[in-house]
Amino acid sequence: MKIERTTPKTLTLNQRRQSFAEVVINLTPAEAQFEAYRCFYCWDAPCQKGCPAEVEIPQFIWSIRSGNVAGAADRIYRANPLGSICGRVCPTESLCEKACTSKQVNIPIAIGHLQRYACDQRLAGGGPLFSYPPVSGGRVAIIGAGPAGLACAHFLRLAGHQVALFEPEEKLGGLLAWGIPAYRLAPETTQAEVNAIAGSIEWHQETVDAARAQVVLQEFDAVFLGIGKGVPARLQIPGSDLAGVRSAVQFLRDVAAGRGGFHDLAGKEVGTIGGGATAMDAARCALRLGAGRATVFYRRTQEEMPAFASEYDAALDEGVEFVWLAAPKAIEAGESRLSVQFERMELGQPDQSGRRSPVPTGSRFTFKLDVLLEALPSEPDPTLMLLLDKNPKVFTGGDLAGGGTVVQAVADGKEAARKINEWLTQGGAR
Ligand SMILES: Cc1cc2nc3c(=O)[nH]c(=O)nc-3n(C[C@H](O)[C@H](O)[C@H](O)COP(=O)(O)OP(=O)(O)OC[C@H]3O[C@@H](n4cnc5c(N)ncnc54)[C@H](O)[C@@H]3O)c2cc1C
Ligand code: SF4
Repeated sequence: MKIERTTPKTLTLNQRRQSFAEVVINLTPAEAQFEAYRCFYCWDAPCQKGCPAEVEIPQFIWSIRSGNVAGAADRIYRANPLGSICGRVCPTESLCEKACTSKQVNIPIAIGHLQRYACDQRLAGGGPLFSYPPVSGGRVAIIGAGPAGLACAHFLRLAGHQVALFEPEEKLGGLLAWGIPAYRLAPETTQAEVNAIAGSIEWHQETVDAARAQVVLQEFDAVFLGIGKGVPARLQIPGSDLAGVRSAVQFLRDVAAGRGGFHDLAGKEVGTIGGGATAMDAARCALRLGAGRATVFYRRTQEEMPAFASEYDAALDEGVEFVWLAAPKAIEAGESRLSVQFERMELGQPDQSGRRSPVPTGSRFTFKLDVLLEALPSEPDPTLMLLLDKNPKVFTGGDLAGGGTVVQAVADGKEAARKINEWLTQGGAR
């Protein structure tokens, strides 16, 4: 007999169009307990092996089942200080839930939703999330306060080290604060978990450039570089500098900051170039801001798209349209709109990424758009890369090291903290 998975309620499509409120509503206590009953508590916990942060999944689900929700949250937070955030944004379908035994006879356990449930209950209960020991060890500089830097800071503080965090933005959290939109990750959740860590460290609100990096290297016993991939690639085609062509990352930042002006999209036709999370979120934000139509143009097909399946499905549900096998070639300013010329692609042999590559066919078509958002892959800022040049005091992780997800950034930060602790306490070389 198939026992249905308990799926949380979501906002209606109408509500989604009009608000940035979280689409997925947290499980109720009864729903969470019912879902916890479906778990087999597998002795070999394949789900846990699929979790980069190594959360003890069967154990926390058992705690929920037995009504000990605070115990479940403690167990999650022990492994992952950003537990509630990850419960919301982890691509569980390709991590823990992909490995879940229940999949063979039923539907995978809703591990992400259960994690969010336990952590949200804990946050709502108030009180400090973490208890850090007094500082007694080495001095470590963390450059960049995204999930990688914050996780590294957290585990280093737990080990008794002094941590100085260098982050120029007004808010800590990196892409959690200004990349992932509020309808998927409520800013209050980010703030609650980030503040729980930030209270124990000293924050220098500054950018570390190459010259400052040399000073930091001298002043600290070790350095963790978690600067992510902050430089989005731009289109290199005629007309890409026209007004109306914008960086999707900058657009998402403006949306997160509530900056006006550019957001006057009512009734407008918005195109987005790309196939990753940024493209999905930019198009979904455009619709929430009143765009009449939001279309994503991608040079391969859905199968090769880097966006998580769940994000593609949500974008489709909300009315985002997709044009596959289309690469932009030129943009012209029309009387009131942009005229964007695309070349039709076809799929060729797999490239280095293992995905079939787009091959130009020579056939072209034109789309009229009001706004074109570029959501192309980002690159790391090269300025600080010299720090990584075989310096044994420098450790790295997160997107800069190839990560790509919040939970991988957390796992990298945690592993770097372990190595830095070893380096500081045992003089161990890597
Ligand atoms: C739109 C969007 C949606 C996403 N959705 C998801 C999702 O649903 N699920 C998921 O798992 N992942 C998602 N991701 C990916 C995820 O956000 C990243 O993998 C993760 O944030 C990487 O963490 P990080 O700490 O390496 O870098 P970042 O989060 O990029 O943080 C880097 C920090 O370093 C700071 N910095 C940069 N240069 C310097 C410098 N010179 N000096 C000091 N500080 C510096 C930056 O200001 C920033 O705060 C999404 C990404 C985007 C863009
Ligand atoms: S693999 Fe699935 S069924 Fe087994 S313990 Fe993990 S969540 Fe439960």
